[in-house]
Amino acid sequence: MRDRKSSDISNHANSANPEPRAAPTHMPLEWDTPMYRLAVNQLDQTAELMNLDPNIWERLRTPQRAHVVSFPFRRDDYNTVETVFAYRVQHLLTMGPTKGGIRYHEDVNLGEVTALSMWMSWKCAIMNLPFGGAKGGVRIDPHTLSGDELQRLTRRYTSEIIEVIGPDRDIPAPDLGTDERVMAWIMDTYSQQKGYAVPGVVTGKPIEIGGSHGRSEATGRGVISCATEAGRSNDISLDGADVVVQGFGAVGGTAARLASAQGAHVVGLSNATGGTYNSKGLDIAAVSAWTKANGDGLADYPEGDAVSNQELLELPCDILIPAAIQNQITEKNAAALRCRMIVEGANGPTTLEADAILADRDILVVPDILANAGGVTVSYFEWVQGLQQFFWSEEEVNRKLIDLMQSAYHSVDQLAKEKGVTLRTAALMRGIERIKQAKHVRGVFP
Ligand code: GLU
Repeated sequence: MRDRKSSDISNHANSANPEPRAAPTHMPLEWDTPMYRLAVNQLDQTAELMNLDPNIWERLRTPQRAHVVSFPFRRDDYNTVETVFAYRVQHLLTMGPTKGGIRYHEDVNLGEVTALSMWMSWKCAIMNLPFGGAKGGVRIDPHTLSGDELQRLTRRYTSEIIEVIGPDRDIPAPDLGTDERVMAWIMDTYSQQKGYAVPGVVTGKPIEIGGSHGRSEATGRGVISCATEAGRSNDISLDGADVVVQGFGAVGGTAARLASAQGAHVVGLSNATGGTYNSKGLDIAAVSAWTKANGDGLADYPEGDAVSNQELLELPCDILIPAAIQNQITEKNAAALRCRMIVEGANGPTTLEADAILADRDILVVPDILANAGGVTVSYFEWVQGLQQFFWSEEEVNRKLIDLMQSAYHSVDQLAKEKGVTLRTAALMRGIERIKQAKHVRGVFP
Protein backbone atom coordinates (compact mmCIF):
# COMPACT_ATOMS: atom_id res chain seq x y z
CA MET A 1 0.00 0.00 0.00
CA ARG A 2 1.45 3.32 -1.04
CA ASP A 3 0.39 6.89 -0.75
CA ARG A 4 -0.66 8.61 -3.92
CA LYS A 5 2.04 10.23 -6.00
CA SER A 6 2.08 13.99 -6.32
CA SER A 7 1.83 13.71 -10.11
CA ASP A 8 -1.50 11.89 -9.64
CA ILE A 9 -2.95 14.91 -7.89
CA SER A 10 -2.25 17.26 -10.75
CA ASN A 11 -4.48 15.37 -13.13
CA HIS A 12 -6.60 12.29 -12.57
CA ALA A 13 -6.00 11.40 -16.21
CA ASN A 14 -2.33 10.74 -15.41
CA SER A 15 -3.17 8.04 -12.93
CA ALA A 16 -4.56 5.29 -15.12
CA ASN A 17 -2.82 2.56 -13.12
CA PRO A 18 -2.86 3.74 -9.54
CA GLU A 19 -1.33 1.77 -6.70
CA PRO A 20 -3.96 0.52 -4.27
CA ARG A 21 -3.65 1.91 -0.78
CA ALA A 22 -5.28 1.50 2.58
CA ALA A 23 -8.41 3.53 3.11
CA PRO A 24 -7.63 6.75 4.97
CA THR A 25 -8.28 6.16 8.65
CA HIS A 26 -9.22 9.66 9.69
CA MET A 27 -12.91 10.58 9.64
CA PRO A 28 -14.03 14.16 9.18
CA LEU A 29 -15.78 14.71 12.50
CA GLU A 30 -18.44 17.05 11.15
CA TRP A 31 -20.37 14.27 9.48
CA ASP A 32 -19.08 11.20 11.26
CA THR A 33 -22.24 9.31 12.27
CA PRO A 34 -23.21 5.61 11.98
CA MET A 35 -25.04 6.21 8.72
CA TYR A 36 -22.17 8.14 7.17
CA ARG A 37 -19.82 5.35 8.26
CA LEU A 38 -22.05 2.79 6.57
CA ALA A 39 -21.95 4.73 3.28
CA VAL A 40 -18.17 5.24 3.51
CA ASN A 41 -17.50 1.62 4.45
CA GLN A 42 -19.51 0.47 1.44
CA LEU A 43 -17.46 2.80 -0.74
CA ASP A 44 -14.16 1.68 0.83
CA GLN A 45 -14.90 -2.03 0.42
CA THR A 46 -15.87 -1.53 -3.20
CA ALA A 47 -12.98 0.83 -4.01
CA GLU A 48 -10.56 -1.76 -2.65
CA LEU A 49 -12.06 -4.50 -4.84
CA MET A 50 -12.05 -2.24 -7.91
CA ASN A 51 -8.51 -1.06 -7.31
CA LEU A 52 -9.94 2.44 -7.63
CA ASP A 53 -7.64 5.39 -8.31
CA PRO A 54 -6.87 6.51 -4.72
CA ASN A 55 -7.25 10.18 -5.62
CA ILE A 56 -10.79 9.63 -6.76
CA TRP A 57 -11.52 7.28 -3.89
CA GLU A 58 -10.55 9.99 -1.42
CA ARG A 59 -12.63 12.65 -3.22
CA LEU A 60 -15.73 10.45 -3.11
CA ARG A 61 -15.54 9.89 0.64
CA THR A 62 -16.64 13.43 1.48
CA PRO A 63 -19.27 15.74 0.02
CA GLN A 64 -18.18 18.55 -2.24
CA ARG A 65 -20.46 21.05 -0.51
CA ALA A 66 -22.38 20.82 2.75
CA HIS A 67 -24.70 23.61 3.87
CA VAL A 68 -25.79 23.73 7.48
CA VAL A 69 -28.38 26.33 8.39
CA SER A 70 -30.41 27.24 11.44
CA PHE A 71 -33.43 29.45 11.41
CA PRO A 72 -36.26 30.67 13.66
CA PHE A 73 -39.56 28.89 13.27
CA ARG A 74 -42.81 30.19 14.70
CA ARG A 75 -45.56 27.76 15.71
CA ASP A 76 -49.21 28.68 15.16
CA ASP A 77 -49.67 29.88 18.74
CA TYR A 78 -47.49 32.89 17.83
CA ASN A 79 -45.63 32.62 21.17
CA THR A 80 -43.20 29.85 20.50
CA VAL A 81 -40.19 30.55 18.33
CA GLU A 82 -37.79 27.65 18.06
CA THR A 83 -34.46 27.27 16.32
CA VAL A 84 -34.56 24.62 13.63
CA PHE A 85 -31.49 22.95 12.09
CA ALA A 86 -31.47 22.05 8.42
CA TYR A 87 -29.06 20.85 5.74
CA ARG A 88 -28.45 20.59 2.02
CA VAL A 89 -25.49 18.45 1.05
CA GLN A 90 -24.14 18.17 -2.50
CA HIS A 91 -21.88 15.16 -2.76
CA LEU A 92 -20.73 15.25 -6.38
CA LEU A 93 -20.78 18.12 -8.88
CA THR A 94 -18.97 16.26 -11.66
CA MET A 95 -21.88 14.73 -13.53
CA GLY A 96 -24.32 17.63 -13.97
CA PRO A 97 -26.66 19.37 -11.54
CA THR A 98 -27.00 17.65 -8.18
CA LYS A 99 -30.19 15.81 -7.36
CA GLY A 100 -31.88 14.33 -4.34
CA GLY A 101 -34.78 14.55 -1.95
CA ILE A 102 -35.48 16.58 1.15
CA ARG A 103 -36.53 14.79 4.31
CA TYR A 104 -38.31 16.13 7.35
CA HIS A 105 -37.56 13.97 10.38
CA GLU A 106 -36.76 14.61 14.02
CA ASP A 107 -33.44 12.70 13.83
CA VAL A 108 -32.03 14.31 10.67
CA ASN A 109 -28.37 15.25 11.02
CA LEU A 110 -25.44 16.17 8.82
CA GLY A 111 -24.04 12.62 8.73
CA GLU A 112 -27.35 11.13 7.68
CA VAL A 113 -27.91 13.70 4.94
CA THR A 114 -24.33 13.22 3.74
CA ALA A 115 -24.72 9.43 3.54
CA LEU A 116 -27.98 9.86 1.63
CA SER A 117 -26.31 12.29 -0.79
CA MET A 118 -23.57 9.73 -1.50
CA TRP A 119 -26.15 7.04 -2.20
CA MET A 120 -27.85 9.48 -4.61
CA SER A 121 -24.55 9.82 -6.52
CA TRP A 122 -24.25 6.05 -6.99
CA LYS A 123 -27.96 5.73 -7.80
CA CYS A 124 -27.87 8.37 -10.54
CA ALA A 125 -24.69 6.88 -12.02
CA ILE A 126 -26.12 3.33 -12.04
CA MET A 127 -29.17 4.62 -13.91
CA ASN A 128 -26.99 6.73 -16.21
CA LEU A 129 -28.76 9.96 -15.23
CA PRO A 130 -26.85 13.22 -15.77
CA PHE A 131 -26.83 14.16 -12.08
CA GLY A 132 -24.57 14.00 -9.04
CA GLY A 133 -26.01 13.17 -5.63
CA ALA A 134 -27.47 15.62 -3.12
CA LYS A 135 -29.82 15.44 -0.17
CA GLY A 136 -31.52 17.88 2.17
CA GLY A 137 -33.11 17.58 5.55
CA VAL A 138 -34.87 19.54 8.24
CA ARG A 139 -34.62 18.29 11.82
CA ILE A 140 -38.27 18.37 12.87
CA ASP A 141 -41.08 15.87 13.37
CA PRO A 142 -43.49 16.76 10.54
CA HIS A 143 -46.35 14.95 12.31
CA THR A 144 -46.40 17.70 14.94
CA LEU A 145 -46.96 20.45 12.33
CA SER A 146 -50.23 22.00 11.20
CA GLY A 147 -50.60 22.68 7.47
CA ASP A 148 -49.70 26.36 8.04
CA GLU A 149 -46.64 25.43 10.08
CA LEU A 150 -45.47 22.99 7.42
CA GLN A 151 -45.80 25.69 4.80
CA ARG A 152 -43.98 28.35 6.84
CA LEU A 153 -41.19 25.90 7.66
CA THR A 154 -40.81 24.91 4.02
CA ARG A 155 -40.72 28.49 2.73
CA ARG A 156 -38.13 29.55 5.31
CA TYR A 157 -35.95 26.50 4.66
CA THR A 158 -36.17 27.21 0.92
CA SER A 159 -35.08 30.79 1.38
CA GLU A 160 -32.14 29.60 3.53
CA ILE A 161 -30.84 27.34 0.75
CA ILE A 162 -32.03 29.43 -2.21
CA GLU A 163 -28.52 30.31 -3.38
CA VAL A 164 -27.47 26.68 -3.77
CA ILE A 165 -30.52 25.19 -5.52
CA GLY A 166 -31.85 25.80 -9.04
CA PRO A 167 -32.80 23.90 -12.20
CA ASP A 168 -29.19 23.82 -13.47
CA ARG A 169 -27.65 23.64 -10.04
CA ASP A 170 -29.34 21.37 -7.51
CA ILE A 171 -32.86 19.99 -7.81
CA PRO A 172 -34.70 18.80 -4.69
CA ALA A 173 -37.50 16.21 -4.63
CA PRO A 174 -39.66 14.50 -2.00
CA ASP A 175 -38.24 12.07 0.54
CA LEU A 176 -39.31 10.84 3.98
CA GLY A 177 -41.79 13.33 5.52
CA THR A 178 -42.20 15.53 2.42
CA ASP A 179 -44.58 15.30 -0.53
CA GLU A 180 -45.76 17.13 -3.64
CA ARG A 181 -47.39 19.88 -1.58
CA VAL A 182 -44.01 20.69 -0.05
CA MET A 183 -42.44 20.69 -3.53
CA ALA A 184 -45.08 23.18 -4.74
CA TRP A 185 -44.19 25.57 -1.86
CA ILE A 186 -40.48 25.26 -2.62
CA MET A 187 -41.15 26.00 -6.30
CA ASP A 188 -43.34 28.98 -5.38
CA THR A 189 -40.84 30.45 -2.89
CA TYR A 190 -37.97 30.09 -5.35
CA SER A 191 -40.04 31.57 -8.20
CA GLN A 192 -41.15 34.55 -6.07
CA GLN A 193 -37.51 35.43 -5.47
CA LYS A 194 -36.56 35.07 -9.14
CA GLY A 195 -39.59 37.01 -10.38
CA TYR A 196 -40.84 34.33 -12.78
CA ALA A 197 -42.07 30.73 -12.57
CA VAL A 198 -39.24 28.20 -12.29
CA PRO A 199 -40.90 24.78 -12.22
CA GLY A 200 -37.59 22.99 -12.92
CA VAL A 201 -36.21 23.84 -9.48
CA VAL A 202 -37.92 20.76 -7.99
CA THR A 203 -39.25 17.41 -9.15
CA GLY A 204 -42.05 15.42 -7.61
CA LYS A 205 -44.27 18.50 -7.88
CA PRO A 206 -48.01 18.49 -8.64
CA ILE A 207 -49.05 17.87 -12.27
CA GLU A 208 -50.70 21.34 -12.35
CA ILE A 209 -47.31 23.05 -12.19
CA GLY A 210 -45.29 20.73 -14.42
CA GLY A 211 -45.09 17.51 -12.43
CA SER A 212 -44.83 14.21 -14.24
CA HIS A 213 -47.43 11.51 -14.46
CA GLY A 214 -46.23 8.44 -12.64
CA ARG A 215 -43.76 10.26 -10.34
CA SER A 216 -45.57 9.62 -7.07
CA GLU A 217 -45.64 5.87 -7.68
CA ALA A 218 -42.27 5.64 -9.43
CA THR A 219 -40.15 4.43 -6.51
CA GLY A 220 -42.61 1.67 -5.60
CA ARG A 221 -43.01 0.70 -9.26
CA GLY A 222 -39.21 0.46 -9.63
CA VAL A 223 -39.02 -1.72 -6.51
CA ILE A 224 -41.56 -4.16 -7.94
CA SER A 225 -39.86 -4.13 -11.31
CA CYS A 226 -36.58 -5.16 -9.59
CA ALA A 227 -38.41 -7.79 -7.52
CA THR A 228 -39.86 -9.21 -10.75
CA GLU A 229 -36.49 -9.33 -12.53
CA ALA A 230 -34.62 -10.71 -9.52
CA GLY A 231 -37.38 -13.27 -9.02
CA ARG A 232 -37.15 -14.33 -12.65
CA SER A 233 -33.43 -15.09 -12.37
CA ASN A 234 -33.85 -16.79 -9.00
CA ASP A 235 -36.97 -18.87 -9.45
CA ILE A 236 -39.26 -16.73 -7.31
CA SER A 237 -42.34 -15.72 -9.24
CA LEU A 238 -44.13 -12.69 -7.83
CA ASP A 239 -47.36 -14.39 -8.83
CA GLY A 240 -48.16 -16.52 -5.79
CA ALA A 241 -45.20 -15.29 -3.69
CA ASP A 242 -45.64 -14.31 -0.04
CA VAL A 243 -44.49 -10.72 0.38
CA VAL A 244 -43.89 -8.65 3.53
CA VAL A 245 -43.64 -4.86 3.22
CA GLN A 246 -42.30 -2.61 5.97
CA GLY A 247 -43.69 0.89 5.40
CA PHE A 248 -47.05 1.94 4.01
CA GLY A 249 -46.13 5.37 2.63
CA ALA A 250 -45.43 6.45 -0.95
CA VAL A 251 -42.92 3.62 -1.52
CA GLY A 252 -44.26 0.75 0.62
CA GLY A 253 -47.91 1.46 -0.19
CA THR A 254 -47.31 1.43 -3.95
CA ALA A 255 -45.04 -1.64 -3.74
CA ALA A 256 -47.69 -3.55 -1.76
CA ARG A 257 -50.44 -2.59 -4.19
CA LEU A 258 -48.44 -3.45 -7.32
CA ALA A 259 -47.15 -6.74 -5.83
CA SER A 260 -50.66 -7.75 -5.02
CA ALA A 261 -51.84 -6.74 -8.53
CA GLN A 262 -49.22 -9.15 -9.90
CA GLY A 263 -50.67 -12.02 -7.89
CA ALA A 264 -48.47 -11.86 -4.77
CA HIS A 265 -49.95 -12.42 -1.29
CA VAL A 266 -48.93 -9.45 0.81
CA VAL A 267 -48.99 -11.26 4.15
CA GLY A 268 -47.43 -8.55 6.32
CA LEU A 269 -47.58 -4.78 6.27
CA SER A 270 -46.53 -2.10 8.74
CA ASN A 271 -46.12 1.62 9.29
CA ALA A 272 -44.39 3.60 12.04
CA THR A 273 -47.01 2.57 14.64
CA GLY A 274 -46.83 -1.20 14.07
CA GLY A 275 -47.94 -3.88 11.66
CA THR A 276 -50.45 -6.53 10.73
CA TYR A 277 -50.06 -10.15 9.55
CA ASN A 278 -52.44 -12.41 7.68
CA SER A 279 -50.99 -15.64 6.27
CA LYS A 280 -53.70 -15.72 3.58
CA GLY A 281 -52.77 -12.27 2.27
CA LEU A 282 -54.07 -8.79 3.00
CA ASP A 283 -56.43 -6.83 0.76
CA ILE A 284 -54.34 -3.68 0.17
CA ALA A 285 -57.26 -1.49 -0.91
CA ALA A 286 -59.16 -2.54 2.21
CA VAL A 287 -56.14 -1.77 4.46
CA SER A 288 -55.82 1.67 2.82
CA ALA A 289 -59.50 2.43 3.29
CA TRP A 290 -59.32 1.21 6.90
CA THR A 291 -56.32 3.40 7.80
CA LYS A 292 -58.03 6.41 6.19
CA ALA A 293 -61.12 5.86 8.28
CA ASN A 294 -59.47 4.74 11.54
CA GLY A 295 -56.10 6.45 11.70
CA ASP A 296 -52.66 5.06 11.35
CA GLY A 297 -52.69 2.18 13.85
CA LEU A 298 -52.17 -0.74 11.47
CA ALA A 299 -51.73 -3.15 14.39
CA ASP A 300 -55.48 -2.76 15.12
CA TYR A 301 -56.49 -3.78 11.61
CA PRO A 302 -59.28 -6.33 12.18
CA GLU A 303 -58.39 -8.71 9.31
CA GLY A 304 -54.87 -9.47 10.60
CA ASP A 305 -52.85 -10.23 13.73
CA ALA A 306 -50.92 -7.39 15.34
CA VAL A 307 -47.12 -7.54 14.95
CA SER A 308 -44.38 -5.13 15.94
CA ASN A 309 -42.07 -3.73 13.27
CA GLN A 310 -39.31 -6.07 14.46
CA GLU A 311 -41.60 -9.13 14.37
CA LEU A 312 -42.76 -8.13 10.91
CA LEU A 313 -39.23 -8.37 9.50
CA GLU A 314 -38.92 -11.92 10.81
CA LEU A 315 -42.18 -13.22 9.31
CA PRO A 316 -41.85 -16.18 6.93
CA CYS A 317 -42.11 -14.97 3.31
CA ASP A 318 -40.51 -15.18 -0.12
CA ILE A 319 -39.81 -11.47 -0.58
CA LEU A 320 -39.18 -8.91 2.15
CA ILE A 321 -39.43 -5.24 1.14
CA PRO A 322 -38.09 -2.83 3.76
CA ALA A 323 -39.57 0.46 2.57
CA ALA A 324 -39.53 2.64 5.66
CA ILE A 325 -36.33 3.91 7.29
CA GLN A 326 -32.64 3.07 7.64
CA ASN A 327 -30.96 0.60 9.99
CA GLN A 328 -33.70 -2.05 10.13
CA ILE A 329 -31.82 -5.23 9.18
CA THR A 330 -28.83 -5.49 11.48
CA GLU A 331 -26.55 -8.10 13.04
CA LYS A 332 -29.26 -8.55 15.68
CA ASN A 333 -31.98 -9.87 13.35
CA ALA A 334 -30.24 -10.88 10.07
CA ALA A 335 -29.86 -14.50 11.22
CA ALA A 336 -33.56 -14.64 12.17
CA LEU A 337 -35.03 -13.43 8.87
CA ARG A 338 -37.16 -16.02 7.10
CA CYS A 339 -37.31 -14.58 3.56
CA ARG A 340 -35.61 -15.74 0.37
CA MET A 341 -35.00 -12.32 -1.10
CA ILE A 342 -34.86 -8.70 0.12
CA VAL A 343 -35.67 -5.76 -2.16
CA GLU A 344 -34.71 -2.48 -0.49
CA GLY A 345 -37.27 0.29 -0.99
CA ALA A 346 -35.82 2.43 1.83
CA ASN A 347 -32.39 4.01 1.78
CA GLY A 348 -29.85 2.25 4.00
CA PRO A 349 -32.13 -0.34 5.65
CA THR A 350 -29.34 -2.96 5.94
CA THR A 351 -26.10 -2.61 7.90
CA LEU A 352 -22.73 -3.88 6.70
CA GLU A 353 -22.70 -6.67 9.32
CA ALA A 354 -26.20 -7.78 8.29
CA ASP A 355 -25.15 -7.78 4.64
CA ALA A 356 -22.39 -10.30 5.41
CA ILE A 357 -24.79 -12.56 7.36
CA LEU A 358 -27.37 -12.44 4.55
CA ALA A 359 -24.72 -13.26 1.94
CA ASP A 360 -23.64 -16.28 4.06
CA ARG A 361 -27.26 -17.39 4.26
CA ASP A 362 -27.70 -17.05 0.47
CA ILE A 363 -30.48 -14.50 0.87
CA LEU A 364 -30.43 -12.32 -2.23
CA VAL A 365 -30.43 -8.57 -1.51
CA VAL A 366 -31.42 -6.14 -4.26
CA PRO A 367 -29.75 -3.01 -2.87
CA ASP A 368 -31.41 0.36 -2.31
CA ILE A 369 -29.23 2.21 -4.84
CA LEU A 370 -30.69 -0.01 -7.55
CA ALA A 371 -34.09 -1.07 -6.19
CA ASN A 372 -35.35 2.38 -5.21
CA ALA A 373 -33.80 4.28 -8.13
CA GLY A 374 -37.18 4.47 -9.88
CA GLY A 375 -38.01 7.67 -7.99
CA VAL A 376 -35.06 9.67 -9.22
CA THR A 377 -35.44 8.13 -12.68
CA VAL A 378 -38.92 9.58 -13.08
CA SER A 379 -37.62 12.79 -11.48
CA TYR A 380 -35.21 12.89 -14.40
CA PHE A 381 -38.13 12.35 -16.80
CA GLU A 382 -39.95 15.21 -15.08
CA TRP A 383 -36.94 17.51 -15.44
CA VAL A 384 -36.55 16.61 -19.14
CA GLN A 385 -40.28 17.09 -19.84
CA GLY A 386 -40.11 20.48 -18.12
CA LEU A 387 -37.08 21.58 -20.16
CA GLN A 388 -38.86 20.65 -23.38
CA GLN A 389 -42.34 21.74 -22.26
CA PHE A 390 -43.52 18.49 -23.79
CA PHE A 391 -45.34 16.13 -21.47
CA TRP A 392 -45.73 12.37 -21.67
CA SER A 393 -48.66 10.12 -20.81
CA GLU A 394 -48.58 8.01 -17.66
CA GLU A 395 -48.31 4.90 -19.80
CA GLU A 396 -45.24 6.26 -21.56
CA VAL A 397 -43.57 7.25 -18.29
CA ASN A 398 -44.21 3.83 -16.74
CA ARG A 399 -42.98 2.00 -19.82
CA LYS A 400 -39.76 4.02 -20.00
CA LEU A 401 -39.23 3.56 -16.25
CA ILE A 402 -39.66 -0.21 -16.40
CA ASP A 403 -37.32 -0.44 -19.43
CA LEU A 404 -34.57 1.46 -17.59
CA MET A 405 -35.06 -0.48 -14.35
CA GLN A 406 -34.92 -3.81 -16.17
CA SER A 407 -31.77 -2.96 -18.06
CA ALA A 408 -30.08 -1.53 -14.92
CA TYR A 409 -31.00 -4.67 -12.99
CA HIS A 410 -29.58 -6.98 -15.64
CA SER A 411 -26.42 -4.98 -16.10
CA VAL A 412 -25.76 -5.08 -12.33
CA ASP A 413 -26.72 -8.77 -12.11
CA GLN A 414 -24.35 -9.63 -14.94
CA LEU A 415 -21.48 -7.74 -13.30
CA ALA A 416 -22.21 -9.48 -9.97
CA LYS A 417 -21.93 -12.86 -11.70
CA GLU A 418 -18.80 -11.90 -13.61
CA LYS A 419 -17.00 -10.64 -10.50
CA GLY A 420 -18.49 -13.12 -8.04
CA VAL A 421 -19.79 -10.34 -5.78
CA THR A 422 -23.14 -9.40 -4.25
CA LEU A 423 -25.63 -7.24 -6.12
CA ARG A 424 -24.84 -4.37 -3.72
CA THR A 425 -21.13 -4.52 -4.50
CA ALA A 426 -21.81 -4.82 -8.23
CA ALA A 427 -24.21 -1.85 -8.14
CA LEU A 428 -21.62 0.23 -6.26
CA MET A 429 -18.95 -0.83 -8.77
CA ARG A 430 -21.13 0.16 -11.70
CA GLY A 431 -21.93 3.59 -10.24
CA ILE A 432 -18.42 4.37 -9.02
CA GLU A 433 -16.87 3.26 -12.32
CA ARG A 434 -19.04 5.74 -14.28
CA ILE A 435 -18.12 8.55 -11.92
CA LYS A 436 -14.44 7.63 -12.11
CA GLN A 437 -14.50 7.81 -15.90
CA ALA A 438 -16.15 11.25 -15.82
CA LYS A 439 -13.61 12.51 -13.29
CA HIS A 440 -10.74 11.18 -15.37
CA VAL A 441 -11.80 12.99 -18.52
CA ARG A 442 -12.58 16.25 -16.70
CA GLY A 443 -9.23 16.31 -14.90
CA VAL A 444 -8.37 18.60 -12.01
CA PHE A 445 -8.79 22.38 -11.93
CA PRO A 446 -6.51 24.33 -12.01
N1 GLU B 1 -35.78 10.92 -2.42
C1 GLU B 1 -35.73 9.98 -3.48
C2 GLU B 1 -34.55 9.05 -3.36
O1 GLU B 1 -34.03 8.82 -2.28
C3 GLU B 1 -35.84 10.63 -4.86
C4 GLU B 1 -34.85 11.69 -5.16
C5 GLU B 1 -35.18 12.47 -6.45
O2 GLU B 1 -36.17 12.16 -7.08
O3 GLU B 1 -34.42 13.38 -6.75
O4 GLU B 1 -34.12 8.44 -4.30
